[in-house]
Amino acid sequence: MITKSDYLKFLTCPAYFWFHKKEPSVLVEKEISDFQKELIESGKEVEAWARKRYPSGILVESREDQAVSDTKKLLDEGKKVIFQATIEAEGLYVMVDILEWDEKNGHWIINEVKGSTSDPTKMGDDKKSKKEHEYDASFQYIVLKKAGMNVGKVNLLELNKEYVRNGEINVVQLINPTDITEKAHELEEEINGHIDQMRMLMDQESEPQPCDCVYKSRANHCPAFGYLYPNMPEYSVHDIALIGLSPKRLGGLIEGGYLSIYDVPEDFELSKNQRSHVDVTQTRITVNKSGEIKKLINKMEYPFYYLDYETYPTAVPIYDGCKPYMQIPFQYSLHIQREPDGEYEHYEFLADNGDENPMKALTESLKEHIGDGGSIIVWNKKFEKKCNENIGEVYPEYAELMNSWNERLFDLMDVFQQNLYVHKDFKGKYSIKKVLPVFDPELSYKDLNVQDGSMAMDTWRKMVFDDISEAEKEKNKKDLLEYCERDTWAMVRIYEELVKKI
Ligand code: SF4
Repeated sequence: MITKSDYLKFLTCPAYFWFHKKEPSVLVEKEISDFQKELIESGKEVEAWARKRYPSGILVESREDQAVSDTKKLLDEGKKVIFQATIEAEGLYVMVDILEWDEKNGHWIINEVKGSTSDPTKMGDDKKSKKEHEYDASFQYIVLKKAGMNVGKVNLLELNKEYVRNGEINVVQLINPTDITEKAHELEEEINGHIDQMRMLMDQESEPQPCDCVYKSRANHCPAFGYLYPNMPEYSVHDIALIGLSPKRLGGLIEGGYLSIYDVPEDFELSKNQRSHVDVTQTRITVNKSGEIKKLINKMEYPFYYLDYETYPTAVPIYDGCKPYMQIPFQYSLHIQREPDGEYEHYEFLADNGDENPMKALTESLKEHIGDGGSIIVWNKKFEKKCNENIGEVYPEYAELMNSWNERLFDLMDVFQQNLYVHKDFKGKYSIKKVLPVFDPELSYKDLNVQDGSMAMDTWRKMVFDDISEAEKEKNKKDLLEYCERDTWAMVRIYEELVKKI
């Protein structure tokens, strides 16, 4: 049986499909991150809302063979809208999110629900996932056609990214259908070819050859990579900073037999950032462009406000004025140093319920501490800037203030992102968690129950929306406060140690 998810693996790589079907024991699947779990949950949430567009719909709750016979029964009974309609034909198996009968035109409509937002200008990875969605829905179209069903239309149902909640969710405005029927017709021949190839692969006993992922960056490697390249060093040329953007260079290194990052020749041409990453790793000598760092940090003005937000973005907005996936800050930590060598003051805010949009109370609290002058120091200013913009968008009375704060943002990460200070232990990265141990080995995140932004999001959700005991709530609160405070204190410590080194 070939399922839709098998097909998506085939689209990633036919050899990956073969391993998945024939030798799954060699696959080392990466543990899914909290962030990916959130995305899956968002997808389910969007599907639940999309179903509300079809009040007469009936859900097929069973799975596998039982689901096929339950769907058949509903079709025989003349049901017009079926959720998770499960169809099998010629060894192919699909579940249609919303199968809808179009009475007027006398044909079926496939509605494939996606947690993504509908945006025709999508670029990069978004564009890639859009393409994947089209293949995914078109595969369903072909299977239903093989099952003898008359499918006249294929829709992708996606979130309307411009939707602004105002009172009750307006599900018609929230979810945008995009008609991809023409695309499904266009892809039919190609997908039928893929089906033939998948069948041939399933009959093949030997491993498909060749696997050329050694020439590609880590993001392209499937879970069979470790099995296929057992001698690949742990810290390999695939770990060189942004090597995925330089396929020719990566190819050159592999062809030259340089697999370990320690083997890269001194005269091998790399970008400036890549060269500095490789040199620091090989020589263990830290790059410290103290003049340039001084120039950059001299832009900082006292008082120093070290600020960090934690946010809760949801696919379907939960508060008025908000759009899908809008970052909603629910917590901040703020360390203030008013003058050189001055004492640090610490302030914090954590919304302890989810009944109201926390942005307003958070802003009111922060306003009491952030004065009219001085730098607001953050790590990765794109994020805090966007949060401030969101606050100004939802509460226009704060828009001016938010703009003024955004003009005062200083991104401490720039020192590291611009390769002004490069240490071998950064391993080509510049996240605060990679940088901190180099500047303060005593301070880390290891002792915390909340380890990253996704966990913070999940912990807050449990704290304010789930039915948990007071004791659990208190524990979540403590964990969140400790985590956010660690982020701003980490910036303080990095800055303090950095100035000693330049
Ligand atoms: S490592 Fe790459 S080429 Fe090799 S099987 Fe996996 S996806 Fe295919």
